[in-house]
Amino acid sequence: MKNHASLKEVQRDLFSNKTSCVKIVREFIHNISEKQHLNAFVEVFSDTALIKAKEVDDKIKNKNQGKLAGLVVGIKDNICYAKHTCTASSKILEGFISPYSSTVVDRLISEDAIIIGRLNCDEFAMGSSNENSYYGPVKNPINESYVSGGSSGGSASAVSANLCHLALGSDTGGSVRQPSAFCNLFGLKPTYGLVSRHGLISYASSFDQIGPIAKSIHDINKVMDVISGSDEFDNTCVGSLFGQQKISSQKRKRFAVLKDALEFNDLDSRIKKQFENFVKSLESSGHEINYISLPMLEYLVPCYYILTTAEASSNLARYDGIRFGFQSQDQCISSTRSLGFGNEVKRRILLGTYVLSEGYYDAYYIKAQKVRNLLQQSIKKILLKNDFIILPTTPNLPFKIGKKPVNPVKRYIEDIFTVQANLSGHPSFSFPYGDSIENGFKASIQIIGDFFKEREILNTVKNVL
Ligand code: GLN
Repeated sequence: MKNHASLKEVQRDLFSNKTSCVKIVREFIHNISEKQHLNAFVEVFSDTALIKAKEVDDKIKNKNQGKLAGLVVGIKDNICYAKHTCTASSKILEGFISPYSSTVVDRLISEDAIIIGRLNCDEFAMGSSNENSYYGPVKNPINESYVSGGSSGGSASAVSANLCHLALGSDTGGSVRQPSAFCNLFGLKPTYGLVSRHGLISYASSFDQIGPIAKSIHDINKVMDVISGSDEFDNTCVGSLFGQQKISSQKRKRFAVLKDALEFNDLDSRIKKQFENFVKSLESSGHEINYISLPMLEYLVPCYYILTTAEASSNLARYDGIRFGFQSQDQCISSTRSLGFGNEVKRRILLGTYVLSEGYYDAYYIKAQKVRNLLQQSIKKILLKNDFIILPTTPNLPFKIGKKPVNPVKRYIEDIFTVQANLSGHPSFSFPYGDSIENGFKASIQIIGDFFKEREILNTVKNVL
């Protein structure tokens, strides 16, 4: 199968009759079955994908196709698609068929993208290695003994292994950017409120955003143009449309380098080196570099885990086995939940319930909200004097499946560089930089910009790479 580098190339071949959507979908279905051992897909929607492919081929013949005609997309298993199963990779949602589609899926389909299947993830998007999934871990196609990252691990693995052109993930604390980084791909966490969350299974509603994972910046642009913008089903989703965002004509950009991230104890020295090379290349192309400090960096992971678990404990209260999903044999809510949720999800529900309980609410939940507020103010100040903040996406390269410390706190610390953008709501884009450091894995860099500046961010990265 031809490995198209971007949608532009796919459409060039489609419009010149070199291939067809049906052929492309068949080839992907073949690739998926060849690479089943990666465990990236939990279900392939062969029938509906082929029906849609035929429809798009007819539209192309009649020259009335949509903007994304021919783009084959995989969706994370927490994004609903009408009449298709969606489980958040949890036993508790076993057999749940969504009666409606998420806004993102509706918008993709109406522009003639083809949804090929649902992708493995950490249960309820809680994790950073895809080892918390009810369906088991996902392998990293770059080196199959390694994790693909998480929680959108299936999404990144599928794009990297050429099982679909692009995938959607969700990012609550890094789940689009970190697996993108682990699989040498591009991943965008949009501004909170740019993309509708309607039909996304909630983890922590004030953090969650859906974002694309792709092999090219071009495809990220194309998909953002279609999925962004206000939605009557999600009142946190504001009017701004990605396609209407202005790009500044100023060539010289001001980059704030987060000193505290570079001084972080557990930062892999080779990632640090690549990052420093990037900063040097920016400097030599005439950009302004400002080293800034964010002393609260070390408090961000605790703050994130207090607030997200609090929201999760409330969001996940709806899974009682009565109306949908798995139900234990004795039909008791407590045994349904004990058997239906995995260990990590249970840990987070307990933690969230604890931080919200009387007597601890002020000490944990309210305090963490204050830290979130302080962070938002600090980022605002930094972005008054700088166009972007840059830092590595992850402190470390992927690790071997089953090899990371089982101590959850040690694992949580790995999210130190990504949670910031979710706590403050800013857009953040991760891209691979430089040559492979080890086993084919590259370092990735994250660029954070002001609210609703995604186009500016993507354009800048395209120009500096
Ligand atoms: N790794 C983070 C967590 O475990 C982020 C998850 C996410 O973004 N969904 O919560």
